[in-house]
Amino acid sequence: MLVSVLASSSKGNVTYIESSQTKILIDAGLSGKKIEKGLATINRKMSDIKYLFVTHEHSDHIRGVGVLARRYPQLLIYANLKTFQMMKSKIGIIPPEQFVDFEPGTTMTIGDVDVESFGVSHDAICPQFYQFHCNNKSFALLTDTGYVSDKIKYKIRNANMYLLESNHDVEMLRSGMYPWNLKQRILSDQGHLSNDESGEALSDLIGLNTKKIFLGHLSQENNLKSLAKLTVSNILTEDGLATGHDFKILETDPIVPTKLMKV
Ligand SMILES: [Zn+2]
Ligand SMILES: [Zn+2]
Repeated sequence: MLVSVLASSSKGNVTYIESSQTKILIDAGLSGKKIEKGLATINRKMSDIKYLFVTHEHSDHIRGVGVLARRYPQLLIYANLKTFQMMKSKIGIIPPEQFVDFEPGTTMTIGDVDVESFGVSHDAICPQFYQFHCNNKSFALLTDTGYVSDKIKYKIRNANMYLLESNHDVEMLRSGMYPWNLKQRILSDQGHLSNDESGEALSDLIGLNTKKIFLGHLSQENNLKSLAKLTVSNILTEDGLATGHDFKILETDPIVPTKLMKV
């Protein structure tokens, strides 16, 4: 598989995956135009993509879903039923035959890729994230969760590649401009993972197969790329993971797509 994180932040999230048989998007949290532009920078185009997996109904994940579904009739939208019901009013009308029900805790096969869904702890109706398997390699995405349960850790442990949330620095969030109730929401068990929580989760997740870790869904107000990377790296070093493993911690960006990388 090849992966490019096209956009990742609290403002918009889109990830692209391809195998020899399929081309997939996970979330469409930018405008249709911006997603097309992002794909063009990695020499790919929307008309070749047949599958879009939606994680939950927050606008930073679904902003472009309606436009893309109407503009590209070949596109199938995978989400669970509750999420689809919540999205409906926000994305406009899309033909029902373009919607595929994909419930949490189930697996689907798309060409040569197996896709597993799993529920997360976040303040949406039924949020779920995905792990993709192809040719004995796996890529797990996990953002928008207040904590990482043992069940999730068990499911996505030792993946070859991760896109993991590193949303905020707790001090920056606490001392920042956000209203009190929004701060509470972000810090809660149904909010987002801090840099520390991300490092702690990774410490349990990383295995000998793990080679690439994208830190994603950074808050533009309450975090810095350098701080996220430093905090996570320090935790992994403290936990003895700096030696004996050869993984790389990679940045993502709110608008600039990462290079296409091999899982
Ligand atoms: Zn989000
Ligand atoms: Zn969310």
